[in-house]
Amino acid sequence: MKLIFLGPPGAGKGTQAAGVSAHLGVPHISTGDMFRSAIQNQTPTGLEAKRYIDAGELVPDSVTIAMVKERLSMDDCKPGYLLDGFPRTVEQAIALDDISAPDAVVDIDVPDERLMGRLTGRRICGKCQGTFHISKLDDEKVCPVCGGELYQRNDDKPETIDTRLKAYHEQTEPLIGYYKGLGKLRTVNGDGQLEDVFKAILATLE
Ligand code: AMP
Repeated sequence: MKLIFLGPPGAGKGTQAAGVSAHLGVPHISTGDMFRSAIQNQTPTGLEAKRYIDAGELVPDSVTIAMVKERLSMDDCKPGYLLDGFPRTVEQAIALDDISAPDAVVDIDVPDERLMGRLTGRRICGKCQGTFHISKLDDEKVCPVCGGELYQRNDDKPETIDTRLKAYHEQTEPLIGYYKGLGKLRTVNGDGQLEDVFKAILATLE
């Protein structure tokens, strides 16, 4: 199955994608994770992407589309894919239709007023890459799964979050209409418990 998770930053796309991709047996492809890893490895893509990511802006389509095209050509994508964070612009969606069109698009819907708290409280484990929220942590600095050190993403600071939400509304939200027009859109309420959202996603895919 070829699947896209749409939704604003902080909607829970990454967390849900990890479980759903394992359930469906397709690779979880997060363009945000790919860019962060490229930045860490100081590749040309990483060096180009860093200034946009740090500012909360979208990386240019040409760079992002080339990176995804290469990733989707890999063998593990033969059974399909679960794309998390791509496409984020109509130009990217049109390019994806050309490369390998999705079967379904799940829009994880969460109201804006819930997103700021979700993002500012998000912590990532530097060792296992797990994502947590401070409201559920005994110690904000220690990963409850592997004991690694937790950190806050640079772009999860309030001033950058405003820019990311603006980019979402202006550039990504139009994709809801794009995929609705193609009859591929399924909307799930993402403002609930993790397990309930997970079940709702699987139900909408049946
Ligand atoms: P994410 O981890 O999905 O929140 O992405 C983090 C950042 O990576 C975004 O704020 C963008 O700067 C960049 N990014 C990720 N995916 C895309 C994309 N499809 N198009 C452009 N920029 C992206």
